[in-house]
Amino acid sequence: MINHDVVVIGGGLAGMRAAVEAAERGADVAVVSKMHPVRSHSGAAQGGINAALGNREDDAPENHAFDTAKGSDYLGDQSAIEAMCEDAPNQIIWLEHRGCIFSRMPDGRIAQRPFGGAGSPRTCYSADVTGLVILHTLWEQLERFNIKVYEEYFATGLCIEDGIGTGLVAYNMRNGELELINAKATIFATGGAGRMYLKTTNGYASTADGMGIAFQAGIPLMDMEFMQFHPTTLKENGVLMTEGARGEGGHLLNAAGERFMFKYAPNKGELASRDVVSRAEWTEILEGRGIDGCVLLDIRHLGREKILERLPQIRELAMDATGKDAIDEPIPILPGAHYTMGGIETDKWGATRVPGVYAAGETACASVHGANRLGGNSLLETIVYGARAARHAVDYIKGVGTVKPSVRTLKEQQDKIDRLLSRNSGERGPALRHAMNKTMSENTFIFRDQKGLQTAVDELRRVRKAFDETCYVMDKSKTFNTDLVNTLETDFLIDAAQCLAKGALERTESRGAQSRTDFPERNDEQWMKHTLAWRNNGDDPKLDYSRAVEITKWQPTVRSY
Ligand SMILES: Cc1cc2nc3c(=O)[nH]c(=O)nc-3n(C[C@H](O)[C@H](O)[C@H](O)COP(=O)(O)OP(=O)(O)OC[C@H]3O[C@@H](n4cnc5c(N)ncnc54)[C@H](O)[C@@H]3O)c2cc1C
Repeated sequence: MINHDVVVIGGGLAGMRAAVEAAERGADVAVVSKMHPVRSHSGAAQGGINAALGNREDDAPENHAFDTAKGSDYLGDQSAIEAMCEDAPNQIIWLEHRGCIFSRMPDGRIAQRPFGGAGSPRTCYSADVTGLVILHTLWEQLERFNIKVYEEYFATGLCIEDGIGTGLVAYNMRNGELELINAKATIFATGGAGRMYLKTTNGYASTADGMGIAFQAGIPLMDMEFMQFHPTTLKENGVLMTEGARGEGGHLLNAAGERFMFKYAPNKGELASRDVVSRAEWTEILEGRGIDGCVLLDIRHLGREKILERLPQIRELAMDATGKDAIDEPIPILPGAHYTMGGIETDKWGATRVPGVYAAGETACASVHGANRLGGNSLLETIVYGARAARHAVDYIKGVGTVKPSVRTLKEQQDKIDRLLSRNSGERGPALRHAMNKTMSENTFIFRDQKGLQTAVDELRRVRKAFDETCYVMDKSKTFNTDLVNTLETDFLIDAAQCLAKGALERTESRGAQSRTDFPERNDEQWMKHTLAWRNNGDDPKLDYSRAVEITKWQPTVRSY
């Protein structure tokens, strides 16, 4: 049995930032991660991290907060947004003081580039490899504090005893044993759920694990219907072409060579928010003005030197996948599943409804992104909310004695694994995952309607039942049983997908990333409330709308760019 004061599940940016904050505050903290932290998906983040430093133009945290609230289509909780934007400049300096190498302006100050939906250039970056650079900075801090990392440990269950969080159960992938990890505070930082879709910018590990574990333990998921589709992904493999490409001045063209975005967003054009740009692209494609199901991202006019200095990675990624060199040719792109705005419900300290259980980063929904996230705000959320969750957790554990080891949860998790391993026939995890991916991609993509969403809800119910009653794992071995791990991930993805589809079906309005062709308008009178999805004993998730959207300063108005 393992014991720590604070255990962070996940070694991406949110997880490592939380762990370092807890260590700086003197807590005994450990990280549990299904992969080496530096391989976490955060390392794929390209374009940058927002903070109102005002290095290029006058700026203030309040402007940043306004842009974020507007970008959220007024579904974001404004005090959570304000907390994030106010702390952003401090966190950038915090990172810089720990050696993070940001790109610079000629006068030596941190460079900032324009991003979609932002009133001024406020995205700090390291060329187009920002996530990787911050990830390595935090990893050095983990080493500095000698923080214990349980690597290749796959969390399967959350322990709750007498109403408080008491740690987790994790599957040691090296020897196939389940272990009980007792903790006075547990922080989920397990990343997003992009793998619900057939094509996504997300890596193979973005499988909703934290969301599924929390949901199965009785913690609600919030606003799951809001899935972000990024406007510029490669058709061949779903890989992202950063928004930084448009931030640096890239154009979007249709088959006629027209910069179509000004039809949809007369003021901002290509730099409108992502939901607006993705819908515009998809409309062009559906109405026959695309090329082979794509539109074009054109950065040729930026010139070779600027492309090689600021966008070297995406040039290479595009060359590898399409054979086209962005210096000489436009790149075919289309919208793709990118970011999970919803997640484990938390307050503005990252605390869930269960004392001692926290969530931060993409797995969480502190409601800073609402119905649509602005580019550059996710990296910021991982850093600000990772630190906030740890700060709260360290204060919380001061009032906790020893926690009761949840042998009960250990047994439940062992039974679940034994069930999957003991069956020798039935449905296989990969087939169920494919069925889920297919219905999600067909019925819960950019434009949605009642018929398609009902189809998704019905199909996901079938998939859920098949998983619970018949799913089996062929590989019975103990060492690095990826068949078993992938099947456990599929279980969590199905939970997330069910919450998304059901939430989208019930929300009879269009807001941010949720675009209903049968309810094309935003309906503030009825829908200024969050969707909470609760586990319902294997039935469709139970939805409740008891949490209203919090407004501090900015009343909803017509949102245009
Ligand atoms: C291609 C791409 C580019 C992006 N670019 C930007 C950008 O420029 N700016 C921006 O703001 N945002 C960007 N984003 C979004 C941003 O990168 C992510 O939202 C953010 O990095 C998520 O960080 P995280 O720490 O929450 O999760 P992750 O980095 O995904 O880390 C999750 C961690 O949890 C661990 N884990 C998961 N499940 C388990 C389990 N069951 N047991 C144990 N450990 C587990 C994993 O091992 C991993 O260490 C981008 C996203 C993508 C996909």
